[in-house]
Amino acid sequence: MPRPIQAIIDPLALRHNLNRVRAAAPDVRIWAVVKANAYGHGIERAYPGLQGADGFALLDLDEAQRVRALGWRGPILLLEGVFEPRDLELCSRLNLWHTVHCDEQIDMLAAHKTHQPHRVFLKMNSGMNRLGFAPQRYRSVWTRLDALPQVDEISLMTHFSDADSRSGIARQLRVFEDATRDLSGERTLGNSAAVLRHGRHAPVRADWIRPGIAVYGSAPDYPEHDIAHWGLQPTMTLSSRIIAVQQLESGDTVGYGSSFKADTPMRIGVVACGYADGYPRHCSTGTPVLVDGVRTRMVGRVSMDMITVDLTPVPAAGSGSQVTLWGRAPGGHVLAIDEIARAGQTVGYELMCALAQRVPVTVPGAGLRDVDSNEGQV
Ligand SMILES: *Cc1c(COP(=O)(O)O)cnc(C)c1O
Repeated sequence: MPRPIQAIIDPLALRHNLNRVRAAAPDVRIWAVVKANAYGHGIERAYPGLQGADGFALLDLDEAQRVRALGWRGPILLLEGVFEPRDLELCSRLNLWHTVHCDEQIDMLAAHKTHQPHRVFLKMNSGMNRLGFAPQRYRSVWTRLDALPQVDEISLMTHFSDADSRSGIARQLRVFEDATRDLSGERTLGNSAAVLRHGRHAPVRADWIRPGIAVYGSAPDYPEHDIAHWGLQPTMTLSSRIIAVQQLESGDTVGYGSSFKADTPMRIGVVACGYADGYPRHCSTGTPVLVDGVRTRMVGRVSMDMITVDLTPVPAAGSGSQVTLWGRAPGGHVLAIDEIARAGQTVGYELMCALAQRVPVTVPGAGLRDVDSNEGQV
């Protein structure tokens, strides 16, 4: 038997979450963000659940090719644009829309030979100070782009730095609005947090939103809100089994550094999952875990290949018992990835993306067929 750890991707949950985001911003087209291999889910595995999106947004040209290879003929947007001139040839060939965030990218476009003018997304730095043109320069850059024969439609784009917190998006929205007031072109604004928290109130016209994390069943503003609050479902489950049981006496310790000491006799289960599988090493005693669907806690340190869990609330559990590290247990109980991320001093994004290569990933076949046959239904 192989080591019992596995990750399970749920296409129906992806579709549910996508619909949930759509409901939060009705009448707006959706870029399903599938960068970082669909946030660690695998583009090919996530695709059946995300086909209801209006387009796919990503960073790597290789990922764009994979989306085209899946048969997607609709829009694909490169969120960081091109990195070198020959990337533009692939954009022409695969009809990729691309972000333009710096002068060098415009120079490359101006020198590019193509019969088919490109659709570009002109990015404004409205305050985040990563990518994009300063608001004062935006109009002149737009004019330069507009004059290029290589450019077809220009869309307007910015990205919010504080959509997940109380600071919100108002300041950046004002900057963006002021600088684009009389420019034509579709607008794309808003990651998951902006859509869920501000979708209905955004005073600016947005044509496209760009949700990522919410689609993958993690709350963008956890712990202020959790996935239950936003009506999202887990899309990735990390599960394993207990491979050994130890009976501790009062005073016994567990694992490296003896960081956990039993103050009463207790049974602990040893789970085949460690940091080499992508489980965060910063988690410590108290991190929640489900054993046979029952919520209990991790004890001691996370080691490379194992963690240890308190079996007190699940006396019937033993070797072979099912363990859910995050996601949905077979009985339906949910342990949100956000809880584990928080215990590990990180965010759900990182845990999904850091799922280790050595963990086999499965997609329930029935779920896939269901998605295929119900495409488009809510
Ligand atoms: C990653 C990314 C998103 C998606 O953000 P989430 O917080 O995952 O919803 C949206 N826009 C851009 C430009 C991104 O890079």
